Amino acid sequence: MAAKPKLGQNFLRDPAAVQRIVAALGDISARTVVEIGPGKGIITERIAPKAQRLVAIELDRELAWGIQERFLPEKGFPAVSVARQDVLQYDFAALAQQVGEPLVVVGNLPYYITSPILLRLAACAPSLSHAVLMVQREVADRVTARPGTREYGLLTVTLQLYGTTESLFTLPPEAFNPPPEVHSTVFRWHFAPRFAALGVEEAPFITFLKHCFAQKRKTLSNNLRAAGLTSDRISQALETASIPSQARAETLPIEQFAALHRALL
Ligand code: SAM
Repeated sequence: MAAKPKLGQNFLRDPAAVQRIVAALGDISARTVVEIGPGKGIITERIAPKAQRLVAIELDRELAWGIQERFLPEKGFPAVSVARQDVLQYDFAALAQQVGEPLVVVGNLPYYITSPILLRLAACAPSLSHAVLMVQREVADRVTARPGTREYGLLTVTLQLYGTTESLFTLPPEAFNPPPEVHSTVFRWHFAPRFAALGVEEAPFITFLKHCFAQKRKTLSNNLRAAGLTSDRISQALETASIPSQARAETLPIEQFAALHRALL
């Protein structure tokens, strides 16, 4: 069956990389694992014998069918099920509630919807324990970036608000079939939302961050003015939060965004 580029079908073909992905999940013997985009099953076949339960979400009808046929109870896989649907519509909360604990997520993601998947996982963070995900290298650089670096931006802060991220290893295009045009990096994300500890409310704080990062070349102050705040209010709040008046959003750690947001309330 020919790969469908529109569905981000770049199949992993490096068994050592698969082993490293599975090892990065930790002990999954008592866990429910959700795999995003199992494809032809190179990761699935390593996880299925180890996890207590595995749910594979695959949008491609033929691939979903192939996975379903291969991991049947009578073939020794009583705990593998396939959800043939778009991962962006998948109800992680319902599954977590059903199994009574946060889920473990794994996936070599379809790159055409990487950011929507990451934001969807962030929104489902209370239902999730940790995730090991393959993404385009540039995306991994962004989600694991530190303040003051070129890669640090809204996606960084958003993901790190929902937990901690760490980059694990990078693969060249040849590790996939067909090879993508980019390098790929696996990163791990431990979910632990920080809103309560930072003293901010989730929805308004996310909206505030979008304003802060609205235009990369502008100062934080100018971005907040463009969002409708008065100069006086902004400079007072910057002073209260001990942030220099000419600071750019790209230089601030999450704690300082939270301090500024609180000062503006
Ligand atoms: N896990 C396999 C591997 O490593 O070889 C396949 C990874 S491939 C990069 C991405 C997979 O995600 C494909 O199987 C593709 O069909 C599937 N996919 C694409 N869009 C999807 C969506 N919206 N929801 C669920 N699966 C999707």
